[in-house]
Amino acid sequence: MKLYTYQRADGAERLAVALQDKLYDLAQFGAHYADMNALIADGAAALPAELDPAGKQPLDEPVRLCAPIPHPRQDVLCLGINYAAHAVESSRFHAEAFGGDRPKAIYFSKRVSRASGDGDPIPSYPGLVDSLDYECELGVILGKDAFCVQPEDVSDYIFGYTIVNDVSARNLQTAHRQWYFGKSLDGFLPCGPCILTADEVPFPPVLDIRCSVNGELRQNSTTALLIHSIADIIAELSRGMTLCAGTIIATGTPAGVGMGMQPPQFLKPGDTVVCEIEGIGALHNTVE
Ligand code: MG
Repeated sequence: MKLYTYQRADGAERLAVALQDKLYDLAQFGAHYADMNALIADGAAALPAELDPAGKQPLDEPVRLCAPIPHPRQDVLCLGINYAAHAVESSRFHAEAFGGDRPKAIYFSKRVSRASGDGDPIPSYPGLVDSLDYECELGVILGKDAFCVQPEDVSDYIFGYTIVNDVSARNLQTAHRQWYFGKSLDGFLPCGPCILTADEVPFPPVLDIRCSVNGELRQNSTTALLIHSIADIIAELSRGMTLCAGTIIATGTPAGVGMGMQPPQFLKPGDTVVCEIEGIGALHNTVE
């Protein structure tokens, strides 16, 4: 099932489901939730097992999409350097910030007051950011609170998957040594277009992952190449912290980001970034 958050003409944000290539407001199926966080918190009881569009009214096209979770309950948890080829290109760009031996997973956090949806702009922050970059990533969304979860049980805790563009200001990321500022500017979390529920994909998900800029293919990989697996990430973090239902984990980006090109090629106003993951869809955002 693909779940969406959309904005009605009156500005209200509602939940929708895709059925036979059309979107339907979830309320038509008796699922009345204030937002996606409320739906996720309700767990398996949230949705009827079978959703039949017969007799229901699809949403008028085009539908204005929001991020599936416009207001994450907590910071987004992110993996740094979680594909081997991206480790090589990152170290080449800035050895001090990204190089060296890193046997353990690199975790960092991304503040997000409001996630951007498909079609929303990416702000460029002239005067503050001189090296704006994209990172297409598989986003994992937890379906229930996780604490001390064993790796073999992790799949029971996953609500679904989405696409995250971990937009990054490389100059802030490297100058401040700590990545938080350079990853957390307003508009730096395009996410969507939907949540693909976990039942749709075998665990662990092995999905093609791609990103293009102005139609030029930049990233082209598979989530099979994650260095630290989803099971290991969630098992490790949950040993010492409760990961709340609705938590988004950005699992890291493959090679092909702008700082990895020779010479580096950063985003500029007017550039359109399209992040795609097999089975989930495509996330389009243009720099303004
Ligand atoms: Mg990233």
